[in-house]
Amino acid sequence: MKKIAILGATGSIGTQTLEIVRRQKDIQVTALAAGSNISLLEDQIREFQPVLAAVWEEEKAKELRIRTADLNVKILSGMEGLLAAATEPGAEILVTAIVGMLGIRPTIAAIQNGKVIALANKETLVTAGHIIMPLAKERNVPILPVDSEHSAIFQSLQGERGNAIHKIILTASGGPFRGKTIGELQSIRPEDALKHPNWAMGRKITIDSSTLVNKGLEVIEAKWLFDVEPDQIQVTVHPQSVIHSAVEFEDGAVIAQLGTPDMHLPIQYALYYPKRRSLKGKRLDLFDLKSLTFERPDTKTFRGLVLAFEAIKRGGNVPTIFNAANEKAVAMFLAGKIGYLTIPEIIEECMEQTRFRAHPDVEEILETEAEVYELIESRW
Ligand code: NAD
Ligand code: MG
Repeated sequence: MKKIAILGATGSIGTQTLEIVRRQKDIQVTALAAGSNISLLEDQIREFQPVLAAVWEEEKAKELRIRTADLNVKILSGMEGLLAAATEPGAEILVTAIVGMLGIRPTIAAIQNGKVIALANKETLVTAGHIIMPLAKERNVPILPVDSEHSAIFQSLQGERGNAIHKIILTASGGPFRGKTIGELQSIRPEDALKHPNWAMGRKITIDSSTLVNKGLEVIEAKWLFDVEPDQIQVTVHPQSVIHSAVEFEDGAVIAQLGTPDMHLPIQYALYYPKRRSLKGKRLDLFDLKSLTFERPDTKTFRGLVLAFEAIKRGGNVPTIFNAANEKAVAMFLAGKIGYLTIPEIIEECMEQTRFRAHPDVEEILETEAEVYELIESRW
């Protein structure tokens, strides 16, 4: 039996991870953590019988304790709960599927406790990659990517030990607004941006996909995971989402991973790496594919990508500023407080106005986040 813990169990990645557990039947779940959906979390606790569950708010934890009084499960709350779930002694693998830089501390704690990390929570690597990657190396802990593009790159690198990456081709679907002009984006409402053409995902990443911020976060994520420079990463819009990303080697060979857009594959690959297990679902049929197309991203209209490249070039806490400003701006957009085009405006302004720190530790990363939030609250 493989033993895993999941942070973000009730979300898009979390529920798909549990679906794999359900199908494969040889994984035991020892801890689950979620934000606020205690009804679903209760169902999951009853089905998977973890020893520990965590929910963010203490009020909800109290209610969940009452609801699960007949079970042998410990219920915790807050950061203490997340840290306990991340370090639950029985688990070998931690699936980090919470959203946002809230994942930094639990991910670090899990690495310190020797857990293999199946990483979906890209915001953590974007903001703290300079701390997490050396720590994982020091503790000899693998960080296995769950993000589909990074899983594709990782799969393309198998058997290539010692062969340097010349270039990464990071594919992007282009999101729901590909081809639209700035004028057309002015009136975008949350419900328009929440419709992604190829993937069903959580709300925040769906908005990020529409602004190209998600691709920006993924460029930074790729830099840390694969130790490449930003100018070795070429973002290519590929609307069919069939080529999930590729690696070009020194001799010009390009190795890619292809498949239907289905997150079960990268999740399952991370859980069983290096083994491949059978996976139900629609298969790629080349005869069904009329064509595969590629375009340059429209970086004039969608500023998210350019700002991410700038953030990683400036380094220090600038990727944190980029990410924190985006997290706050997206939450405000979803709450109907700001317009769609104000998202990149807020990120850009915060990148100019927030105090630069060259080598931020975790404390300073969290201070930067607080400074960014303060600035946004005072201005918008
Ligand atoms: P989601 O919104 O569907 O789920 C987020 C999960 O985090 C939920 O279980 C929620 O309860 C939990 N959560 C939120 N706030 C919390 C808190 N304060 N304490 C504890 N738990 C909390 O998001 P998602 O789409 O599953 O994405 C999760 C992560 O995976 C993100 O970083 C995202 O960028 C990344 N990712 C997702 C996909 C995808 O297909 N959904 C693909 C690639 C990467
Ligand atoms: Mg992705």
